[in-house]
Amino acid sequence: MPTQTSLSGERFHAFKSAVNPQPVKKLEKMKNSAGLEAPISEYFGCMTFGLAQMREKLPKDAYQALLKTLEQGKKLPKETAEAIASSIKEWSVSKGVTHFCHWFQPMTGLTAEKHDAFISIQHSHHSELRVIERFTGSQLIQGEPDASSFPSGGMRSTFEARGYTAWDPSSPLFIIEEESGNTLCIPTVFFGYHGQALDNKTPLLRSMEAINREACDFLKLLGDVDVKRISATLGAEQEYFLIDKNFVSLRPDLIMTGRTLIGALPARGQQLEDHYFGSIPGRVKKFMQEVEFELYKLGIPVKTRHNEVAPSQFELAPIFEDVNISADHNVLTMEVLKRIALKHGLVCLLHEKPFAGINGSGKHNNWSIANDKGENLLEPGTTPHQNLRFLAVLAVTLKAVFDHADVLRASIASPGNDHRLGANEAPPAIISVFLGELLENILNDIEQGKALKATDQQIIDLGLTHIPNISRDYTDRNRTSPFAFTGNKFEFRAVGSSANVAVPMSILNAAVASSFKQSSAKLRELMSSKFMKRDEAVMEFIRDVCKKTKNIRFEGNGYSKEWRDEAKKRGLPVLNTSAEALSVFNNKKATQFLADMNVLSQEEITSRYHINVERYVKTLDIEFESLVELTKTFVIPSLEKQMIQISASTDSASVPALKKLQKTRQQNLEKVFASVLKNLEEFEKLLEKSHKTSDEAVRMHEIVKILSPKALELRKACDHAETLVADEFWTLPKYREMLFANTLA
Ligand code: ADP
Ligand code: MG
Repeated sequence: MPTQTSLSGERFHAFKSAVNPQPVKKLEKMKNSAGLEAPISEYFGCMTFGLAQMREKLPKDAYQALLKTLEQGKKLPKETAEAIASSIKEWSVSKGVTHFCHWFQPMTGLTAEKHDAFISIQHSHHSELRVIERFTGSQLIQGEPDASSFPSGGMRSTFEARGYTAWDPSSPLFIIEEESGNTLCIPTVFFGYHGQALDNKTPLLRSMEAINREACDFLKLLGDVDVKRISATLGAEQEYFLIDKNFVSLRPDLIMTGRTLIGALPARGQQLEDHYFGSIPGRVKKFMQEVEFELYKLGIPVKTRHNEVAPSQFELAPIFEDVNISADHNVLTMEVLKRIALKHGLVCLLHEKPFAGINGSGKHNNWSIANDKGENLLEPGTTPHQNLRFLAVLAVTLKAVFDHADVLRASIASPGNDHRLGANEAPPAIISVFLGELLENILNDIEQGKALKATDQQIIDLGLTHIPNISRDYTDRNRTSPFAFTGNKFEFRAVGSSANVAVPMSILNAAVASSFKQSSAKLRELMSSKFMKRDEAVMEFIRDVCKKTKNIRFEGNGYSKEWRDEAKKRGLPVLNTSAEALSVFNNKKATQFLADMNVLSQEEITSRYHINVERYVKTLDIEFESLVELTKTFVIPSLEKQMIQISASTDSASVPALKKLQKTRQQNLEKVFASVLKNLEEFEKLLEKSHKTSDEAVRMHEIVKILSPKALELRKACDHAETLVADEFWTLPKYREMLFANTLA
């Protein structure tokens, strides 16, 4: 019997390489004239071409025509398109770009791009062919990728299976620099023959329009007569894991599914909570510096970086921007994270739950609304008017979340997020709003019509003519809330780390827009039929909303079992799994506001439901097949080796006491082995049976109710095996190696 003195071969090498990583090429940053590192402001956005660059580079009339198009949603005149294309081409070629692509966000959840060279053929006088760099207005504006390879959820019949991409001038063009060459990416929307949205960006742009329209109307009623434009703003904090590539290459589950399907918990997980905000390992810091450098060149304002709760988990937060821009930026950030990680011999895991028993990853969506002066409407202000406006907008948002909690929950449903929501970590699956003690008290007092008293920290003087003045200075936090007010913005924390934020943000914007619309109607009614003065009517409106939406407000522990019971009593939607949550998209009444706000038509909603169900089923099928394979080709052979070894040594042991102990060990191993085999057999049978179900929605429910629990049992048996098999026989890299190697490197 050949024995090894340490870890089994490949795994040992992976560990050695992970703690002694290959040196990474030193990052060449921009230098200033003195040869020192240039300040970020000097190269920020140098690889982008947006409105600022167009103003500088375009002929005046072309730029004016573009602005008009943007403001009024008009078609871009042909000459203008040509002028823009030509200046884009000149700029791109000067940056070493040879190819361009229409960059879009199909409903697969990833981005797609179709590359074309800038060249075109010109015939000279002597009919020789000549290649020239050329980029036309129509190439800029419209493309037609092979749409049949992208999901449409049954919206297109084959004869109209065409899809078009159209330039979205509100988001800057950008250049992706890779060793294989530089590519100009044109942000586009993607739609079908009849204009149906086939992507995640179109609904987001529509929702920005909706919130602009409805919020402006509401604010004018409030007395902000000169308000011109309202945008929703977003700062998306991104969590991720970094694992050495050598380990990932030995873990078929990570390669195929982005998460570990088996793996026993290490003795030390995150109990010590020493990773959070601890010092960042050197190797990771180098990675982060390069990521930030790339992001700055792409005009993405990343600001903070730190360790997260789990070992090898990190977070990056940008400065907020208008949602349509920051949504693109978040997608790009995820791509840059993954690309740069590979350069550093690391793999960036964006999955919501890469390691069972270890904290998962989310994406905290900090969301607010701002006017064209850049004032944050959720910022308690210094004047009574600002504070009344603040309370009114707060009430509108509360009403939006209360009315549409089910659809908001559905918007964050994904297989990965099922491991976070509903599990005992991160936000719960029940949507509720946390306001903090101070605001809670204010709203309660308003509701009861009490004149508010001055407190120690805040001056609150609420007669009907006086308006409460709310100080922003409170840091009350509740980490267990899925939707929390954090001083001057809401934080939608239940969004998954791998999600395209355009999806939940378009639903949130639509919900708030719809709420603005109804609130305007209510205000008009109060002012005309009850002859109330404006501020009085606004207070009355706020009081009414406080009363009606009280059930959505929750200050307690969102993880607790009591809350689940309480939420049910309150009649809040308790949708623990994606299967339950996605069904909401089938409920016409629940989703009607999306159609009313022109964000998604009923046809588009139905198609999204089908795509989500299909993706859920496919993702889980891949996980199930991978689990079966992993059990058969890794776990069982490891167990067998261990059992052969122990039976050989039991036979040859001459000391009776030793022989007895080894017998016990052997029996334990046999038990685990039997359990793995039994669970595997049962699981495979269930899986085979389930494949006979042709209706995908039915299968989704079967998966949640029957298959996933069984997969978990199989996993538990495998994890138990891992704790019994000698290290030398276990071939899969273990949690402790994958999660802690960074600290040794
Ligand atoms: P916190 O201490 O609450 O984490 P930060 O100031 O660090 O607050 O902000 C966290 C995130 O919230 C950042 O991405 C930030 O840009 C974003 N943020 C701040 N203000 C707004 C706003 N008005 N709208 C949207 N996001 C915002
Ligand atoms: Mg935060």
